[in-house]
Amino acid sequence: MTIQDVQSFAKGAWVQTNDSARPIYSAINGDMIARAGNDALDAVGMIDYAKAVGGANLRKLTFHARARMLKAVAQSLMAQKQALYDISFSTGATQKDHLIDIDGGIGTLFAYSSMARREMPDSDIYLDGKVERLSRNGTFLGQHVCTSLPGVAVHINAFNFPVWGMLEKLAPAFLAGVPAIVKPATATCYVTELCVRLILESGFLPEGALQLVSGRLGSMLKYVESHDVVSFTGSAETALILHSTPEILQNATRFIAEQDSLNASLLGPDVLPGTAEFDLFAQEVIREMTTKAGQKCTAIRRILVPEAQLELMVEKLKKSLSQVVVGDPRNKDTCMGALVSEAQKRDVLKKAKLIGQDADCVAGKPYQFDLQNVDLQKGAFVPPLLFCCWSPDSAEHVHDVEAFGPVSTIMAYRDLNHATELLNRGKGSLVASVITNDADVASDIVLKSGAFHGRLYFNNGTSMAESTGHGSPLPHMVHGGPGRAGGSEELGGVRGVMHYMQRTGLQGSPDIIAQVGKKWVPGAKEVTEKNHPFTRRFSSLQIGETLYTASRQISMEDIEHFAHFTGDKFYAHMDEEAAKRNPFFPGRVAHGYLLLSFAAGLFVEPNEGPVLANTGLDNLRFMKPVQADDSIKVRLTVKHKTPRNKEYGEIRWHVSLTNQDDELVAEYELLTMNAF
Ligand code: NAP
Repeated sequence: MTIQDVQSFAKGAWVQTNDSARPIYSAINGDMIARAGNDALDAVGMIDYAKAVGGANLRKLTFHARARMLKAVAQSLMAQKQALYDISFSTGATQKDHLIDIDGGIGTLFAYSSMARREMPDSDIYLDGKVERLSRNGTFLGQHVCTSLPGVAVHINAFNFPVWGMLEKLAPAFLAGVPAIVKPATATCYVTELCVRLILESGFLPEGALQLVSGRLGSMLKYVESHDVVSFTGSAETALILHSTPEILQNATRFIAEQDSLNASLLGPDVLPGTAEFDLFAQEVIREMTTKAGQKCTAIRRILVPEAQLELMVEKLKKSLSQVVVGDPRNKDTCMGALVSEAQKRDVLKKAKLIGQDADCVAGKPYQFDLQNVDLQKGAFVPPLLFCCWSPDSAEHVHDVEAFGPVSTIMAYRDLNHATELLNRGKGSLVASVITNDADVASDIVLKSGAFHGRLYFNNGTSMAESTGHGSPLPHMVHGGPGRAGGSEELGGVRGVMHYMQRTGLQGSPDIIAQVGKKWVPGAKEVTEKNHPFTRRFSSLQIGETLYTASRQISMEDIEHFAHFTGDKFYAHMDEEAAKRNPFFPGRVAHGYLLLSFAAGLFVEPNEGPVLANTGLDNLRFMKPVQADDSIKVRLTVKHKTPRNKEYGEIRWHVSLTNQDDELVAEYELLTMNAF
């Protein structure tokens, strides 16, 4: 059998292993299948190359261009994912596991691509929050902005998700315009290496954006600087060693740590046997124990049930676990494959033994299980091990030891207070799930346990068909947790991109704020053009282009007519005395919607033209009541432009309505789609 040399990709070239390479074994039969490592890699050269070439290339692109790049990479990987499936079986993973790692990773790229095009501007600067008015007359403003770090992201990943683990970090880093050096765990780096090859061969990444270290990282962390980001996923022990690198501390280098976690799942006190929720709870537990053979950072390690349900739930779980077929992951009827390596198997059994000091093993005693077509001595197979802890208050290991395999402990709680105490004994976890129909139970748990968990997942009969699963980190939701889970966050939509950007508070005049942020703000320079802005195409409209309309007087007949026409006969528009009794109104006032409608009548250019549709209205505020005989006029200004495709783009207009005394009566942002 040929032994694969897993290569690194440094400074734009593939690099062979050298004598320092370490062996990699098949999880299924223990045969040596590959080797990885080259201790002569030029760490400083790789960092410099990433910054000078990769970073510079990525930052030539706007957020939207980077998002389109991610989508193209995702499409290319999707077309070639079979090759990744084929090679991944040797890690012990089943086809179902591949869907989480490979399809899940590609899905994360797609999700980030569309989130970025929806929620980020088509420029190179991200505005964080609204403009702050820092002076009485509005001549001095504040705006938080985020800009790309001119550094490199060093991603050190765990063995369990060789594809997802890489792609979920690359997506936000690339969107931020930051190049990456990926260091996968050696045990499964051959899968990551293939994925990197497929990405590079797709040709969609600019030169220098991605490098790969297969095998040991060497001294690279000694050379990271203040604008670099180290994102680590793995054990708490390794995280502590790496985070303590003096250069990382001296330079205050951002260090994101996703560590181990004693995640829990709680059966709500309201859930009784025989209900859909009772079965759902058991299903989620079994799925989390067996998917990836329990090698998931989010897997359920502690199972909390009301005292009255303990016996029944133990029996239910034992019955389900007895039907789990453990064996060769390539077999279609295998439910659970192998752990990643013999070393991992030893580690899991050692930790299971510790847990056994606090709890009885009630299902799957080691080695007493039926293996299919597998060499028992060689493969890294462990059956699902269910422990039952009778005294969870005095137990230590069940709340502290993470056996990173198919190992979980069930325990009973007395009441909800006791349940939250036990939930929080994990000292900070990635996720806790609660199966309940009772929103009061959910509120109580959020208040008492929220600070201990990165994610709280509630599920019941209403949501179960569409729920995403206790153990699935989603691109839209934050992943990470406090305390022993690492105290960091990743993913969470645009939040995840911000880990690779610097937030800066800008202060200055409206013109400066508008020009820097590429968004018009009140008080900034206005541009007047001869033609009505609605006659101008997306590409020719300028930020700040402004139209002032004529004014229109509002009569009592208008108010009456609008009330009867729309059916909105709210007393403040119809009854002088009642309106006066209201603290907001001097008497009968015009409808806010009447003002908006009249405003449109003032600024709209009626003929067919480049404005294709009015797609919405944001941040509407009515500031001052308008009464009969008052008049209104409109200022319409191009605030921001976002291309959507080759045919049209979105214009965000700032609209202000003022009265005859130039007082602001209403303000909003109007959205239109305009032809290019
Ligand atoms: P690990 O042994 O801590 O290794 C994690 C990564 O660190 C690997 O790439 C490893 O490379 C590297 N590494 C180890 N020592 C290093 C050093 N001195 N310098 C540079 N890099 C070094 O963890 P693991 O066994 O791969 O993963 C299992 C653990 O990860 C579990 O505890 C699990 O809970 C945790 N995990 C957490 C998350 C999360 O998102 N929170 C996700 C997955 C896993 P080598 O393989 O080459 O040693």
